[in-house]
Amino acid sequence: MSSATDALNRVFGYPSFRGQQGDIVDHVIDGGDALVLMPTGGGKSLCYQIPALVRPGTGVVVSPLIALMQDQVDALRTVGVRAGFLNSSQDLDERRVVEAEFLAGELDLLYVAPEGLGTAGVQRLLDRGKISLFAIDEAHCVAQWGHDFRPDYLALSMLHERWPDVPRIALTATATPATRDEIAERLQLTEARHFTASFDRPNIQYRIVGKNSPSRQLLELLRSEHAGDSGIVYCLSRASVEKHAEFLSQNGIPALPYHAGLDARTRFTNQSRFLREDGLVMVATIAFGMGIDKPDVRFVAHLDLPKSLEGYYQETGRAGRDGLPSTAWLAYGLQDVMQQRKMIESSDGDLAFRRNAGQHLEAMLALCESVTCRRAQILSYFGQPSETACGNCDTCLTPPSSWDGTVPAQKLLSTVVRLQKERGQKFGAGQSIDILLGKRTDKVSRFRHDELSVFGIGADLKETEWRGVVRQLLAGGFLAVEGEYGTIALTPRSAEILKGERKVMMRREVPSPRTSSSRSGS
Ligand code: ADP
Ligand code: ZN
Repeated sequence: MSSATDALNRVFGYPSFRGQQGDIVDHVIDGGDALVLMPTGGGKSLCYQIPALVRPGTGVVVSPLIALMQDQVDALRTVGVRAGFLNSSQDLDERRVVEAEFLAGELDLLYVAPEGLGTAGVQRLLDRGKISLFAIDEAHCVAQWGHDFRPDYLALSMLHERWPDVPRIALTATATPATRDEIAERLQLTEARHFTASFDRPNIQYRIVGKNSPSRQLLELLRSEHAGDSGIVYCLSRASVEKHAEFLSQNGIPALPYHAGLDARTRFTNQSRFLREDGLVMVATIAFGMGIDKPDVRFVAHLDLPKSLEGYYQETGRAGRDGLPSTAWLAYGLQDVMQQRKMIESSDGDLAFRRNAGQHLEAMLALCESVTCRRAQILSYFGQPSETACGNCDTCLTPPSSWDGTVPAQKLLSTVVRLQKERGQKFGAGQSIDILLGKRTDKVSRFRHDELSVFGIGADLKETEWRGVVRQLLAGGFLAVEGEYGTIALTPRSAEILKGERKVMMRREVPSPRTSSSRSGS
């Protein structure tokens, strides 16, 4: 038996590795660098914990989850792994103990916060001990245009420069192909072996409903399908969290609030209760959940639109880690779009930031508007196109009413082709739409786009419908958004639509009485 399997059996009590775990572990034990993409619950931790046990020295784990380090270390110590952590929550005495253990070679694993690694003190400490590997957890935090950027992660490129002989393994549960490339580049892992597991979570049923009376819709869902189950309800604002936690409690569903405005003690108590007790509902902002490992979360409900598909998938991924049927439910209305756009517009971020935030939102909207399999859309966004409908999402189970948008989609792609091939130009989606609508804007005149053969050929549709076409194409990977200016460009798959090999179906918008007045904001 290999020493890796032996450690797996002996220390963690598991009979065998799952999926690619075994290959990853062998690769790192042999001293190789690795970039690991695995969905939440896929078992990333063992990928560095086992090599850290097998290789001589201490495995240094970089993690942004400071609040969870104590828990993680406690859990490891319970099974006999010699683990410790260094972060800003400790006092000097506590630090000294951990540092001494590290220097004496008495630690298998040392968790450090990224900001700590940037300090000369910690770097000198690491120089004086023996490091078996670096594990960079939540590696997507290094991606500047990702949804969860942390500036401290940028400094991690120095790991390779300062300790070139120490193998590094970066791990994340959320990365589009572009983000994956950015991670590899920024962490100097382009030479590393990449391991990509399937991102599919087949036991989670994805459902997106029109929002009209969110509180009542939520109550209905919980009563009819999830009575007595544990689950998470995500809300955008702290006020909404408080309101809905109270609303559920009043209606006989045990619920607790969680948001960054609560004091640390209350947050800790609520989190512990959620983890340990059965049938509790956590009503929370997205401050809750990273690193939470509760296997039997039966549903994740969103009362507000998430800002990105990455965030949405990460949050819904907390459901059903035990593999049993679970629900991901989202209520989405046009007010959500308005609100998010306003938040982006009024943010302090610069133009590039706002554009990036806008693109993330667009992808999320495309999913909401999709008439085809939600799962296939999500997986395609994460670089895993799938041809088959899943049979376990709302659009598969109850196909929505739709219209054939193939010809408009071809017109739009033709416009992009004209700009790209004939003129060597790339623009944002708005310019193509203006051209199709036949609008003689300043920008259209200046670039003489009114002379293109596609000018005005799309006047039969409304601007909002054209936006829907763009979103649909983006969501399906038939169009890409590029760079800090958010220009749209063809993809290898665009040809499928241009050649008429593929139909594009658009979800018919059914204006509900409550939202019809705000339609202009789509
Ligand atoms: P991730 O970090 O990818 O979200 P974790 O490392 O927390 O996932 O693992 C998810 C769960 O799966 C944990 O409860 C872990 O103990 C369990 N697990 C991981 N690998 C195995 C395995 N080879 N056999 C059995 N259980 C495993
Ligand atoms: Zn489906």
